[in-house]
Amino acid sequence: MTTAAGTPVADNQNSVTAGPRGPVLMQDYQLMEKMAHFNRERVPERVVHAKGAGAYGLLTVTHDLARYTRAKLFAKVGNTCEMFARFSTVAGESGSADTARDPRGFALKFYTEEGNWDLVGNNTPVFFVRDALKLSDFIHSQKRDPATGLRDNTMQWDFWSLSPESLHQVTTLFSDRGIPATLRHMNGYSSHTYSLWNDADERHWVKWHFKTMQGNQTLTNEEAARIAGSDLDHHRRDLHDAIARGDFPKWKVQVQLMPEADADTYRIHPFDLTKVWPHRDYPLIDVGVFELNRNPQNYFAEVEQAAFEPGNMPPGMGASPDKMLQARLLSYPDAHRYRIGINYAALPINKPHCPVHSYHRDGQSRFDGNGGGAVNYEPNSFDGPVQDPGVREPSLKLLGDAARYAARDEAGGSDDFSQAGDLYRLMSADQKSQLIGNLVGPLKTVPRFIQLRQLAHFYKADPDYGARVASGLGIPVGEIPGRNPT
Ligand code: NDP
Repeated sequence: MTTAAGTPVADNQNSVTAGPRGPVLMQDYQLMEKMAHFNRERVPERVVHAKGAGAYGLLTVTHDLARYTRAKLFAKVGNTCEMFARFSTVAGESGSADTARDPRGFALKFYTEEGNWDLVGNNTPVFFVRDALKLSDFIHSQKRDPATGLRDNTMQWDFWSLSPESLHQVTTLFSDRGIPATLRHMNGYSSHTYSLWNDADERHWVKWHFKTMQGNQTLTNEEAARIAGSDLDHHRRDLHDAIARGDFPKWKVQVQLMPEADADTYRIHPFDLTKVWPHRDYPLIDVGVFELNRNPQNYFAEVEQAAFEPGNMPPGMGASPDKMLQARLLSYPDAHRYRIGINYAALPINKPHCPVHSYHRDGQSRFDGNGGGAVNYEPNSFDGPVQDPGVREPSLKLLGDAARYAARDEAGGSDDFSQAGDLYRLMSADQKSQLIGNLVGPLKTVPRFIQLRQLAHFYKADPDYGARVASGLGIPVGEIPGRNPT
């Protein structure tokens, strides 16, 4: 055993005191170092997605995407890529129960030969809001009441009922799929629309889907509460134990592809994060399979310090005008700089598996040689790395007056209701009953004016949906605001 400086430690049990019963001497450097380091052990937990579990794995390409993207990863069948996945709940703190009703983060880092590709998705295909200007308000409403420090149904339903674009995601969250049985038994989605582009400068919009090959399995509220009572870390433990016993979970990787020009005429706003592209319009195309097959050795180093950023994409892949994605491109690396420091990208878990040639230098906790004596500015005359115009993304035509546009004011409105209704209508009788029960429980505890405002949204999605929640709340259907009498 040594100190952090490598000097041998003679006694790690007894501090240096003036006599056997005397006070501690300041000269006990080893004690000071130990306490000082302990005081600084925590980095700030993530504001959202604080509680997570991670594992390493391998992506294997089963169908190439060479027609659509120049990314070498997808150039041919049989290509493989090492990866790391982190799954998380959203609202709970780092020690919270794994089986809470909450969307799950589904963050993937692929260490491609052309740099990291991070796909930072969820286990739901849509999200509660479509504009990041509402994101912090939304999260505040889901976290703790500033006065009581308690999670609060009234805050949650007040926000949701005043933000009808949340209805699709609310319907998903309170469905049976709102609590996955394990992290292995849930799908993942990019949720956002991204893009793929090829050497001919053709662009397709793309949505990524990761379908669990273990099958979707879920927990009821009662099962989830029982598990939380005995094991807060049920999902983290399950993933670890499955991998440790060689039962490696797998997901099918699929895409929906939309030619660039379709975005102008498609009946559904293709960059609205509260909408899916129905499969009948854009069918799922198989791309590959990924398997998680190795547990981290050290939770803090590999899972807590894992830093995913949607802007990490190799040439051939790009973003889209999705407003939420645009904001996440900025806010994710910003959060990492705050949480784990400016040199987070050089940490082993985040470091690309290909060479890195940037001119970034210095900063706190620089631990990787800092570029040595190589030239640290560009352009230069000393053989420093240079740009490669060959990987330039094709231009994207954008038109419009700078203003703040409400989706609801667009021609035809934003239609916050049809897809929530589609989801309700595809559910089995049992799934519908679970959904209604899961909604009525928390809604019973909120003021009546909020219940009525929310009931109007359920009713617009599907009259049966609205009527059943109303009946669960003991509210006559005739009192639902805006109901069309039939
Ligand atoms: P499809 O019938 O082609 O697809 C239905 C989709 O719903 C499947 O992906 C299925 O996933 C998923 N699903 C089934 N039950 C639930 C549930 N309780 N919670 C969440 N998802 C569920 O229909 P469409 O493509 O026309 O979409 C209809 C509705 O399905 C949408 O409005 C949306 O709410 C939902 N959905 C659509 C997706 C899409 O990308 N088109 C993706 C996920 C959901 P699985 O195959 O794994 O069972």
